[in-house]
Amino acid sequence: MVELAQWIGKLGMELGPSQLEQFEIYYHEMMDWNERASLTAITDHQEVQTKHFVDSATVALVLSGEEVRRSSTKIIDIGTGAGFPGLPLKILLRQPRLTLLDSTAKKAAFLRHVVDKLKLSDVEIVNDRAERVAHLPQYREQFDVVVSRAVAPLATLVELALPFCRLGGKFIAQKKGTLEQETREARKAIEVLGGRLSEVRRIEMKVFRDVRYLVVVGKISPTPQKYPRRPGMPGKRPIHE
Ligand code: SAH
Repeated sequence: MVELAQWIGKLGMELGPSQLEQFEIYYHEMMDWNERASLTAITDHQEVQTKHFVDSATVALVLSGEEVRRSSTKIIDIGTGAGFPGLPLKILLRQPRLTLLDSTAKKAAFLRHVVDKLKLSDVEIVNDRAERVAHLPQYREQFDVVVSRAVAPLATLVELALPFCRLGGKFIAQKKGTLEQETREARKAIEVLGGRLSEVRRIEMKVFRDVRYLVVVGKISPTPQKYPRRPGMPGKRPIHE
């Protein structure tokens, strides 16, 4: 775990002993629940450190100092699965209030268990589809930062994510591979949902052996009430030009 601290250090964050212990507990609980809850194909200790923990932590690179420090910052992770990227961010940053959203009941059960084991405060777990939750007033346009990894192509994803984002807030999507076509195909959806592509940050760390991206979309106008459409529609018929 010494290496985890080094990689996190390279991202400009510090990993104290209690956080190191939290990551160890997280790893062991994830392995313990993996068969029951189908959490991850990655089980090697070292690989979990890099492909899940460090990868999640890279999201902090596009957060502002204010977003990081303030305890009133609200973050939601859409389709979080076993907690990525939301939970490692919470362990590292401590302050922000975190909502983890996933439609799979078994994953939500794991998340409740692990959040309890990690003794984290201000973490809420919501077990439902983003298409429904985004229409509830206590979630709609309530978050400063919306994050998501490995859930859907960008055109679909912005329909699931941007409705949660407050005006002036941002949506951060973690992406791999060739992005050009995906961002081009998402242009219309971003505009319709009230967003503006503000940055594509290239993440190149030796430890990944590939290139990753953080796609940052700012929320510049309210999302029309009709979005997101009913469950399944954003995936089946993405908003294209
Ligand atoms: N973000 C995690 C998990 C990716 S797998 C990671 O990177 O490891 C995609 C997850 O999104 C699954 O757990 C699935 O249950 C969830 N999901 C897919 N569509 C969803 C939706 N419309 N609403 C909520 N969760 C969704």
